[in-house]
Amino acid sequence: MTGTPTRVLVLNSGSSSVKYQLLDMSDGSRLAQGLVERIGEETSRLAHTPLHDGGGTRERLAPIPDHAAALEAVAEELAADGLGLDSPELAAIGHRVVHGGLRFTEPTVIDDEVIAEIERLVPVAPLHNPANLLGIRTAMSLRPDLPQVAVFDTAFHTTMPESAARYAIDVETADAHRIRRYGFHGTSHAYVSRETARLLGKEPEEVNVIVLHLGNGASASAVRGGRCVDTSMGLTPLEGLVMGTRSGDVDPAVTFHLKRVAGMSADEIDVLLNKRSGLVGLCGDNDMREIRRRVDEGDERAALAFDVYIHRLKKYIGAYYAVLGRVDAVAFTAGVGENAAPVREAAIAGLEELGLAVDAGLNAVRSGEARVISPEYARVAVAVVPTDEELEIARQTFALTAGGATEGATEGGSGGGSGGMSGNAPENTAEKVNA
Ligand code: AMP
Repeated sequence: MTGTPTRVLVLNSGSSSVKYQLLDMSDGSRLAQGLVERIGEETSRLAHTPLHDGGGTRERLAPIPDHAAALEAVAEELAADGLGLDSPELAAIGHRVVHGGLRFTEPTVIDDEVIAEIERLVPVAPLHNPANLLGIRTAMSLRPDLPQVAVFDTAFHTTMPESAARYAIDVETADAHRIRRYGFHGTSHAYVSRETARLLGKEPEEVNVIVLHLGNGASASAVRGGRCVDTSMGLTPLEGLVMGTRSGDVDPAVTFHLKRVAGMSADEIDVLLNKRSGLVGLCGDNDMREIRRRVDEGDERAALAFDVYIHRLKKYIGAYYAVLGRVDAVAFTAGVGENAAPVREAAIAGLEELGLAVDAGLNAVRSGEARVISPEYARVAVAVVPTDEELEIARQTFALTAGGATEGATEGGSGGGSGGMSGNAPENTAEKVNA
């Protein structure tokens, strides 16, 4: 062992998958990454890619019955590269946890009390928090001595004022069932808003940014001086923008109309709005590449889907412009935001009066780097800023555990502090979080 341990393993445990990355926080480099999918099925697959020595991806295609077996397989793959979980260079394990309610406002070192809290939030995140907990428990059993940190998707949004977080429904009913807007994708919004400030040569505290996280799930946020003041997802990740398979905003009356008139059950409506709506519902495809190809061929349903998607996006840009009052940058990120130039062009088109414009040449450039795509004269920067949720989780984990002292490791990181539970708020026990 040489000096302070600097490696962080990041685990993103889903219901039937585990994604992982091993990073070295002395310089933020990636040592290995991989994915275990179809856990519990006959067709499980582990794909592991060592990144420090240029080795290729290795695949395992044997059945992996549960999360414990998945993590053990990951540990074996890492060990084969000399990066085993027993290495003294491993400083901590960081876990993505989807729902932290209002209590978890910062990354938090996991102990029994934290596990109990995450468990208490299962009713609001029935698909995600149980899977996250499986990953946490398995990792703790493999390395009980190692600090493990939970980094919550909701945490960045806990700074939203009540005016943005409250639904305008009867206060007693809302409070009894802890119904409010929590927001998701927080790790990405935090990272991208900060990287956007850096791209502009400013401190996060100096800039107001609208972040558009456009992946298969999609959300927008309004970030004032580094703090989230509004975001488009709400009690669950269903609210807001049009997504791959989710409707985003609909009149709530649609749900009881479907129940009364179409005779659908609550579960059927849930599936309709979460799985059979959005781009898929409008045109049958949820991949923006395919939709653009169809639009270019003159397909009317694909054109309708694209137009509905863009209209909603534009509405949120306008809304968050008004919420912020002054905007320094609009940042596009995630699969669609980083790659789909036509989406960026269409979303910003016609907003010149707001100081927003896209330079066609800059917008067409393909790059993995953060970049400005607005013309010099534009008052507001439009930027493409690739998100990196794993790096953000690793930074926050490292800052909170061993790494506070290591130079460069926490640069730009928002982690640190004692982390933890604000303890000031009731928790949500309402309906489902579906994705
Ligand atoms: P994410 O959830 O961030 O991984 O984003 C996934 C989505 O990004 C896919 O469903 C596609 O719609 C979109 N996407 C990925 N690559 C491209 C591309 N080159 N052009 C347009 N859309 C893309």
